[in-house]
Amino acid sequence: MAVFITDECISCDACALECPVAAILDEGNERNPYDDSRYYVKPESCVECVGHADLPRCAEACPTEGAIVWDMPYTQEYESYYAEGNEEGKYAIRVHKKKGLMLPSVKEQKFKDDIDFSNREAHSNVGVF
Ligand code: SF4
Ligand code: SF4
Repeated sequence: MAVFITDECISCDACALECPVAAILDEGNERNPYDDSRYYVKPESCVECVGHADLPRCAEACPTEGAIVWDMPYTQEYESYYAEGNEEGKYAIRVHKKKGLMLPSVKEQKFKDDIDFSNREAHSNVGVF
């Protein structure tokens, strides 16, 4: 990933159109594992805005403190983290017709290497409030 949207989300729709890689699903999307309760970031798609902006655009647009938090990089080092999260329903990682489940071992994503890992592990708020 990436960033993660928590249950603090108020489904205001400010973030989704800001995403340069269309990684955010609204609360009515059938691929959103949280159904009607909140927005969802696809970890297999989020690039943390690397190459697009200095800070995650979704978090800059979000009015709700604690709604968008840091998650672990979508890299092979965190393969089991995402695989287990997918099994538990925390994520709904895309299943590609030919490649199968799009885990980091199939395709890694970019991540901001200047974010302290303690902030990722603590799922600290991304935004500046
Ligand atoms: S951090 Fe950037 S790429 Fe990731 S979901 Fe937010 S806007 Fe999209
Ligand atoms: S901008 Fe924040 S509160 Fe609004 S839908 Fe996105 S994550 Fe939820």
